Amino acid sequence: MANGEKQDYYEVLEVNRNASETEIKKAYRRMAVKYHPDKNSGEKAAEEKFKEVTEAYEVLSDPQKRALYDQYGHAGMGGGGFGGFSAGGFGGSPFGDIFGDIFGEVFGARPKPGRGRRGDDLQYNLEVTFEEAAFGVDKKIDIPYAKRCDACSGSGAKPGTEAKTCPTCHGAGQMRFQQGFFSVSKTCSHCNGEGRIVESPCPTCRGVGTVRDKKTISVKVPAGVETGIRLKLSGEGGQGVKGGPNGDLYVALMVKEHPIFRREDNDVICEIPISFTQAALGCELEVPTLDGRVSLKIPEGTQSGSVFRMRGKGVPALQGYGRGDHIVVAKVETPTNLNKQQRELLEELARTGGEDANPLRKNFFSKVMDLFT
Ligand SMILES: [Zn+2]
Ligand SMILES: [Zn+2]
Repeated sequence: MANGEKQDYYEVLEVNRNASETEIKKAYRRMAVKYHPDKNSGEKAAEEKFKEVTEAYEVLSDPQKRALYDQYGHAGMGGGGFGGFSAGGFGGSPFGDIFGDIFGEVFGARPKPGRGRRGDDLQYNLEVTFEEAAFGVDKKIDIPYAKRCDACSGSGAKPGTEAKTCPTCHGAGQMRFQQGFFSVSKTCSHCNGEGRIVESPCPTCRGVGTVRDKKTISVKVPAGVETGIRLKLSGEGGQGVKGGPNGDLYVALMVKEHPIFRREDNDVICEIPISFTQAALGCELEVPTLDGRVSLKIPEGTQSGSVFRMRGKGVPALQGYGRGDHIVVAKVETPTNLNKQQRELLEELARTGGEDANPLRKNFFSKVMDLFT
C-alpha cells in the first residue's frame, strides 16, 4: 500500500458499514487466524495483513473510535499512526492483550503473570490383558510429575531470601506502550513475564519452583475398554505452579493380544480345531470362554468354518447393557501321518462312501457338469 493511503477499515475486515459488533468480531477472528504470524512463519505479506486487520479491529470494535472513524475517516484517528507496530516486531507478541481477550480459545490461553501456571497434562500408556479389558480392573500406576519444591514453597528463591519484584515492569510482567489511541503491551523481557526476579535461586530446585517426583495413582479401568481408549483423570496431572491449577492425567489403554481369543466389537472369536472324525460323527466339546470352560455340542456332519454362537458370553458393553457373544469357528483338520491300519480304514471308507457323504463336493461337481455340457 502506498505511503499515506490506508485501506478502509470496513474493507479490510470485509464487512459492511452496518456490521454488528459480533459480525466484526467474527470477521476479525477469521482473518487473524488466517494471517497470524505463528501460522505464516514470518511471511512479510501475512504479517502486514495481520497488522492491518488488527488495526481495523481495534477501531471498529470500540464504539467511540468507530463513531469517530465513521465521521472523519482515517483523519479522525489522530496523528500517531501505527508506526510503532512494525518497530516492535512480532517476536514478543505485542498483541498480548487482544489475544488474551478474544483468542484464548483459538490459540490456547497464554500464561498471565501473578495468576500461576497450570500444571502439565500427562499421558500414561497402560497395558492391560484381554480379560482385564473385558471385565475392568483397578490398577495402581506410578507417574513422574513436577511437584512443588518444599524447600522454597515453590517460589524458586533460596530459603531465607525472597524473589524481588521486577524493577522493569514493576511486577506486571507486561510493558505497555502508548501508540496514538492504542495501548500495546509486550511481555517484559527482564523477567520473562513472571513479574519477579529470583536473585539467589533455591539450590533444591535450581530456581524452577518444582522438583521431579513420582506419585501412585489408582486407575479404575471400566469393563469393555479397547486399545485406543483414553481415560481422563482430572487434576491428576502435573502440579500447578504458583497457585495455578493441576493439569490432567490421560491414561491411554493398550490391550495385549490373547493367545486364542480375538475380539470384534463386543464379540469374542475363537477358532477351535476339531478332528475329521469329530466333525463327521459329531461330539461334545469343552470350549474356553471368558467365563471359563463351557460345553458345546458339535453336530455330526459339521463343515470346516462352521460358526457356533454362544449368546451373551462375549465382552460387556462399555456403555450400556449386555454382553457380546462368544463365537466358536470350527476348523476341521485333515488327518496326517496315517499308520497302515488307519490308511486301510480310510481306503475302505473311500470305496464305500457314496457321493451323499460329501454334500459340498456333490453340489460343486453338479455345477461343473452344468457348465460343460
Ligand atoms: Zn526450590
Ligand atoms: Zn518484568
